Amino acid sequence: MYQVAQPLPPSIPSCAEAGHHPHLVRTQGAPLRHHLGAPVVPTWHIECCRCQVATVPHPSRAIAESRWTDPSGAYRIPLSQLRRAREQFAAAALAA
Ligand SMILES: [Zn+2]
Repeated sequence: MYQVAQPLPPSIPSCAEAGHHPHLVRTQGAPLRHHLGAPVVPTWHIECCRCQVATVPHPSRAIAESRWTDPSGAYRIPLSQLRRAREQFAAAALAA
């Protein structure tokens, strides 16, 4: 599993607090405990290590961006739960 991070495009708002540099992250490959050999689609999320927050991963970059800007905050999770969210996504994709 590997990740590629890039700065948010100018169209996407940063954190409310100044000095934060959230990143758009593309993750490829199987998370831990995923069934060996099963294909896993790359997912996107946005994370800020200063806030310790990330969006729930999704295969669509556009949706990842909309999850970051969602005013309800429903798609934001603690950074520490990101791995688990990817495992759940992989399991759901496998079951589909
Ligand atoms: Zn932040």
